[in-house]
Amino acid sequence: MPFSRRSRNSSRPYFRRNSRPTKTKKKEKVLDETIYTQAAQEVEPKKELDQVNFDTYSLSSTIVKALEYRGFTSPTEIQTKTIPVILEGSDLVAISQTGSGKTGSFLIPLLHRTKEDQNKNLNRGALIVAPTRELALQIDKELRAFDLRKLGLYSQTCIGGADIREQMRRLRKPNHFIIGTPGRLVDLVKREALNLSNIKTVVLDEMDRMLEMGFVEDITWLIEQIKGSKQSLFFSATVNKQVEPVLKKFAPNATYVTVNNPSPSQFVEQSAIKVQQGQSKLEIISEYLERDEVVKAIIFINTKSEVEKVANNLARQGFEVDYLHGDKSQGARTRTVKFFRRIRSGVLVATDVAARGLDISDISHVINYDEPKSEDDYIHRIGRTGRAGRFGVAVTLLNR
Ligand code: AMP
Repeated sequence: MPFSRRSRNSSRPYFRRNSRPTKTKKKEKVLDETIYTQAAQEVEPKKELDQVNFDTYSLSSTIVKALEYRGFTSPTEIQTKTIPVILEGSDLVAISQTGSGKTGSFLIPLLHRTKEDQNKNLNRGALIVAPTRELALQIDKELRAFDLRKLGLYSQTCIGGADIREQMRRLRKPNHFIIGTPGRLVDLVKREALNLSNIKTVVLDEMDRMLEMGFVEDITWLIEQIKGSKQSLFFSATVNKQVEPVLKKFAPNATYVTVNNPSPSQFVEQSAIKVQQGQSKLEIISEYLERDEVVKAIIFINTKSEVEKVANNLARQGFEVDYLHGDKSQGARTRTVKFFRRIRSGVLVATDVAARGLDISDISHVINYDEPKSEDDYIHRIGRTGRAGRFGVAVTLLNR
């Protein structure tokens, strides 16, 4: 189905200018060009994993029904390795990339244990900390897909950029799952709106990313506020110099699980387009978007101002387009993601805020208008496509 241009007389206000200042540009590292050109590979499903079934874990029937309803017939590799560890109450360090079923690997056993404790009139809560608002919302979405209400369990998302008073109001009611970003969680605890006394499990998701973003003090402070014995579940793509001391401090006896999940890039056909002298990147992009096979695309750009410029320009050309960057209000960011998830074809122009945690199964193309700043960012960007068993395409414009 060809990429559709938005009709010019549509009345939906999909694009608004944002005049907040942007940060100064850091000097960028030049990446090896060859990373941008990799063919997608056919991946054989792992047969041995199919033999493990969710029945093995004696999960509550509502959870099993929710898994069936979602078409999750067997656990993924990370789920097979982590669910038993979490169910027995041990601390866990899981080295794994996103896209492996990581979120389910902690939500499924936590839902089960929380429900079991509730049946025994025990109040078990879990605190789930994520580096970005998008990832926190993604975890919340995944959690709600388990029919929380039917289970009689409640969750609250505490992220920056959203109305803090509303969050404070909702925190007055009992919650079994608190999902949030470090800064806002600290703020809510300091305001005595968030009480951590029932928290028995703390999950740090994308821990390496969180520490890279400078949240070490917030995370340390938060974990220290959880008194009494607790289970620590730490998920990280790597264990580096920043991650190691935190693991040693809070989970010295943890069970380590490493999942060599196929890199998300395995399902993505990757190529590069050299931008010739005098050629405009915008023209290349507009032409590329006209291709029949481009259905839903994310264009990654390094600066917020350029994101708006390109989105504006594509909108003027009549493309169905929206944009995402860190200066947008949280409400607007959520609306944009919802809109992009819902539409059948269109384009999202974004900074790296959209590179992690955005799980939309039908994104056909990732276009790197600007080269990413690191190989890690590149892998996360292209991991937005080629999801849920589909193949994706990633194209990087090379301006060198
Ligand atoms: P994540 O690593 O948490 O981002 O998950 C990646 C994708 O896998 C999400 O779309 C999940 O809904 C999906 N997923 C999680 N667990 C399973 C499972 N057992 N079987 C099939 N898909 C799953």
